[in-house]
Amino acid sequence: NVKRPEGDVSITSEPSCLAAQVREQVPALHQGGEVGRRWTYLDSAATTLTPQPVIDVLSDFYATETGSAGRGGHWRARRSTQRYEAARARVAAFLGAETSSSVVFTRGATHALNLIACGLRGALKPGDEVVISAMEHHANLLPWRALAEESGARLRVVPLNERGELDREATEAMIGARTAIVALTHVSNVLGTVNPVAEWVEMARGYGALSVIDGSQSVAHRAIDVKALGCDFFVCSAHKMYGPTGVGVLCGRSEALERLRPMELGGGMMTSVREDEVVFAELPNRLEAGTPPVAQAVGMAAAIDWMEGFGMEALQRHEEALCAYALERFKEVEGVEVVGSPAERSAVIAFGLRGVDAYDLGELLDAQNVAVRVGSHCAHPLVRELGLCATARASFGAYTDRDDIDALIEALAEAARFSP
Ligand code: PLP
Repeated sequence: NVKRPEGDVSITSEPSCLAAQVREQVPALHQGGEVGRRWTYLDSAATTLTPQPVIDVLSDFYATETGSAGRGGHWRARRSTQRYEAARARVAAFLGAETSSSVVFTRGATHALNLIACGLRGALKPGDEVVISAMEHHANLLPWRALAEESGARLRVVPLNERGELDREATEAMIGARTAIVALTHVSNVLGTVNPVAEWVEMARGYGALSVIDGSQSVAHRAIDVKALGCDFFVCSAHKMYGPTGVGVLCGRSEALERLRPMELGGGMMTSVREDEVVFAELPNRLEAGTPPVAQAVGMAAAIDWMEGFGMEALQRHEEALCAYALERFKEVEGVEVVGSPAERSAVIAFGLRGVDAYDLGELLDAQNVAVRVGSHCAHPLVRELGLCATARASFGAYTDRDDIDALIEALAEAARFSP
């Protein structure tokens, strides 16, 4: 079923230099799947594979330095505290944060978004509005829905146009004097759409509303500068940026973070506890109850060093070229339908194969050593809005190369034999 366009010199199967360098450093790419066959991993939007230099830093930390940060005076505790705070400073520099103390370590983006929404309990009143988009992951939808329900505020959802981009007129109509919060994903985890976050932030600021950017799908794929963006809050997860699971970040403007009431109470987030009074610690500790994820934070900083070793612009260019190549090659397989055609797309492409159930398609591809995600991608309202039950999704990372795309196309052509 593969129809290769004739004489198209732009389509070659040469892997880019960047991916070739990266692939050597990622052991998981060379395991799994059928022995002796190349394994094609196209699910980096769910989680990225971990490079050896990051694994080494984690392993060294556990072997030589592990200890509880922020507690105890012995050298291990002191050293862990230093490593944890150095990791915080690294993340702050990477995101362009105001100061280190405007970086709060969380368990991930979901936890960070819940810290914001729960932290703003009591700050909203009936008549206020929270504006989100129709392409939010449940993590940036359900906390706002709960907050709106509790406070009597109204949740407003900006619809999409037929390309899978935000409807501009609707955005302008919805963000206004009643808006208390806008919360938007930088990049859609289903459509790959890159959203005009700076415009939303500016509009929100104009009406005195808080702005929240979910950077889960952008932070490993393009340079981020939260100060330049001007948002009140930015969240992300390390496991989508070549780092460990179990850690993420809530990065905010100091005054905005100050407005959050701690959602979690416990050790490390207060300076004194008496019968009748608790004095909370300063930021960021106030929002970090419990033993901090020291090793994970150190691993996250190592992942940032690793990405910056290649350069965020280079990673972005590499993935943009891959997207263009993949979109071209998808046209070659009869029956493949790409979902959405945003003018600006990051490293995510949702697709289907006419006549083949998405879950069956996932299995057919998996049987050929090609790993894609299938389902509704924790974005049920969006997938329903698109008139679908589920889609397949290919997503790329620094190690993805043209051979991966070629493998996907070949596997799709094989799967197409099962379509009616
Ligand atoms: N937001 C978006 C856009 C995502 O894609 C994801 C994860 O897929 C999340 C939030 C939640 O991230 P985590 O599960 O790491 O908390």
